Amino acid sequence: MIVPIYLDNSATTKVRSEVVEAMIPYLASEWGNPSSLHRFGRQSAQALVEARSRVSRLLNCDPEEIFFSPCGTYSNNTAIVGRARFAEANDLGKHMITCSIEHPAVLGPAKHLEALGWRITYLPVDSEGLVSPADLSKALQSDTSIISIMWANNEIGTIQPIDQLAGIAEESGIYFHTDAVQVPGKLPIDVSQVKVSSLSISGHKFHAPKGVGVLYVRKNVNLMPLVYGGGQERGLFPGTEALASIVGIGRAAELAREELTDNLSSLRSKQAQLMKRLLAVDGVRMTGPVEIERRLPGHVSVVVPGCDGEALVLKADLKGVCISSGSACHKGIKEPSQILTATGIPAGDAIASARISIGRFNTDKECDQAADLLAGVFQSSRQGGSRALSKS
Ligand code: PLP
Repeated sequence: MIVPIYLDNSATTKVRSEVVEAMIPYLASEWGNPSSLHRFGRQSAQALVEARSRVSRLLNCDPEEIFFSPCGTYSNNTAIVGRARFAEANDLGKHMITCSIEHPAVLGPAKHLEALGWRITYLPVDSEGLVSPADLSKALQSDTSIISIMWANNEIGTIQPIDQLAGIAEESGIYFHTDAVQVPGKLPIDVSQVKVSSLSISGHKFHAPKGVGVLYVRKNVNLMPLVYGGGQERGLFPGTEALASIVGIGRAAELAREELTDNLSSLRSKQAQLMKRLLAVDGVRMTGPVEIERRLPGHVSVVVPGCDGEALVLKADLKGVCISSGSACHKGIKEPSQILTATGIPAGDAIASARISIGRFNTDKECDQAADLLAGVFQSSRQGGSRALSKS
């Protein structure tokens, strides 16, 4: 029987046993509503305080700047649309700047604002997916009230010069949000140094469960809620708190902080090995930054020209290796990843993308085996692909 090797940690991660252990009491016995005045409520409220403080230590901020949310998508939507509502109510201007390779959780709210009459500038990226700070400065207008640039890209692994970008916004007094969903446990996040106004993370990307996220909001930065209710999370994310999941993200944040240095160096060495082995296959090319230090630790993304990304994923799965692709098939038509085409990769190659994302639980042996299996899949698919192409 094949024991699958999971190399899709940018999509989601396994919930850690320490996290499950921390959560169980809040499902089994301490299930009170944190808003209740009696002992069950007080116990739960205390757990909420502890989780908030653990997450604040991961980001190096004040616990009061941490808001628990339903996921990364909600955090990004609140950061953008919630800020837009505040901007409109205070005549701060209806121009937003973002970039062309953001996750749909940022592009979606940007499109929504566009439909409401906002002007949106989508900054271009270079061939490695980098936003230029000079381009950001040039794009600023008198009515720019929101900037949203991701910290690191999920598909091609690019780490943006986020401190420089946030610095430009700070100098100009403009609200700056960053989607840092791919970052915890892989790179340090210190909001006392990087002057973002708000920042999103999501539990399931760093070994907490799905369905819980965080929005960091710097003190004195105003956002309006998207939904209204009982006032939990100081009114920004109302609704009875998902206590067990919040305890889970708190514990995961604590572990991510404690283990960052070890995790980073372990991911880097496995990433370097995998890159070397896959790039040795004839025709295979990296997408995103070639220089490893500019990529998310553990993240490898390639194109295998002449192949189909979804077919690569399925063939790799048959061999027992779980990876993903940025290309997709919609209504029978192959659609290239827009992130790859934004970096200048021709559509024909962009449908041939594969993303391999190593996580904390992947061993050296697994990565070694996966490299052999993936190299075999890429090679045979390329030969098959070339034959198919040469016939037409
Ligand atoms: N932003 C980025 C960069 C992501 O990779 C993801 C998830 O894939 C999200 C946002 C959305 O997070 P969630 O799945 O928690 O809604």
